[in-house]
Amino acid sequence: MREPIVIANWKMNGSTEANRVWVEKFLQLRGDLECRTAVCAPFVYLPQLVSLLKGSGVAVGAETVSSRKNGAFTGEVSADMLADIGVTLSIVGHSERRTLWKETDEDVAEQAALLIEAGIAPVVCVGETLEERESGRTEEVVLRQLRAVLARVPAARLGAVAYEPVWAIGTGRTATPEAAQAVHAALRAELRASDAAAADKLPLLYGGSVKPANAHELFSCPDIDGGLIGGAALRAEDFHCVCSAARAD
Ligand code: PEP
Repeated sequence: MREPIVIANWKMNGSTEANRVWVEKFLQLRGDLECRTAVCAPFVYLPQLVSLLKGSGVAVGAETVSSRKNGAFTGEVSADMLADIGVTLSIVGHSERRTLWKETDEDVAEQAALLIEAGIAPVVCVGETLEERESGRTEEVVLRQLRAVLARVPAARLGAVAYEPVWAIGTGRTATPEAAQAVHAALRAELRASDAAAADKLPLLYGGSVKPANAHELFSCPDIDGGLIGGAALRAEDFHCVCSAARAD
């Protein structure tokens, strides 16, 4: 019913040569994957990836986008610019952006709105810190983050929502499938309250130390429709292994 999608988030990694080798390897391995795939990379490499992946079916995405439309915002990259070079999706609200660059729920909602206006699918990240989890506030936090976006844009226009517990990102600690599924079910219920048809179609991704060894178990949960993959996406072989764990129902 929902086609799974697995998205690589390269973060601040890569080089022209390393990217070329990664793409060549991944396209060789890809064969019979049952999921959609995408690669999100630093802005400077997006034109290279758009060109290397043209016609391959692997989508190219940005890791963030400006919350401003255009003008005197030195160093920023707008949604219209991403659309102009052929980018079709973009992560917004990654916890590294929320924590290190102080992006707020409102910034994330504005980024999503500008992406949609430019014809790009936002992949909205939500997730709680360890302290929030330990104080029993996980649902409150992720639902607040999601509601801020839904107050600004319709659920039907989102590309995906990614649940990424902050304490699981890049730490080697993964949420148990049961804990991740519980949060995904809460997110799905919130989306249903806003638009039932869209909620049934929208992929909900899990992210946070997903690797070949744990992907199958996580992706087998009923409300986990794929993943957002950091560390394990840096090697094409590992990313391919993770992707092969995502199967259509
Ligand atoms: C991420 O940064 O989106 C992520 C999930 O990273 P990792 O897989 O390395 O935990």
